[in-house]
Amino acid sequence: MSGRSSDDANLTYGDIITVLNSEGILLDSNDDLTLTDSFRTDWRRRIDQVAEDPTTYLGLVVEADPESLVVDDDEDGIAVRDESGSITRTVGEWPSEAALLADVAAFVSLGEWLPEFEALDGVERDELVARLRVFLEACPSCGGELKEGEDPSDAAAAEVSVPDVSCRDCGAALF
Ligand SMILES: [Zn+2]
Repeated sequence: MSGRSSDDANLTYGDIITVLNSEGILLDSNDDLTLTDSFRTDWRRRIDQVAEDPTTYLGLVVEADPESLVVDDDEDGIAVRDESGSITRTVGEWPSEAALLADVAAFVSLGEWLPEFEALDGVERDELVARLRVFLEACPSCGGELKEGEDPSDAAAAEVSVPDVSCRDCGAALF
């Protein structure tokens, strides 16, 4: 990504929500944040695209040669390493391939929808992308319904800790 220069590179979370709102990505109705239908549709379309060739899109997102990416898939999740240099670096870790697809697709969609996205640093972009995953309503891999592992009555706690979300159908963990 060719970092576009901007003065507001250090956005706070509140700023991010405001920006996501004004760019038509998030809807804020009575403090209940949801994705707009148009962003959700676009993200869904991207997820399907990324699913056809995850490594190529992953290479774009982490700025690495897809040929040098090694994907480690085990029961704990997915780790992706870049083995192009003399030192292997981990470029990302996800709880499942479904979560990876969602994040990589969100990266691509946000890059198009959000002019500020490229001005954010890598950590801010990763955080923003992971936060969007909360708004998924269907499993990125199979389209199945998502369920939360935590007691819904524990809503106050769920806001600070990340809820444990997985797919009812294929069992993919999203968090
Ligand atoms: Zn699923």
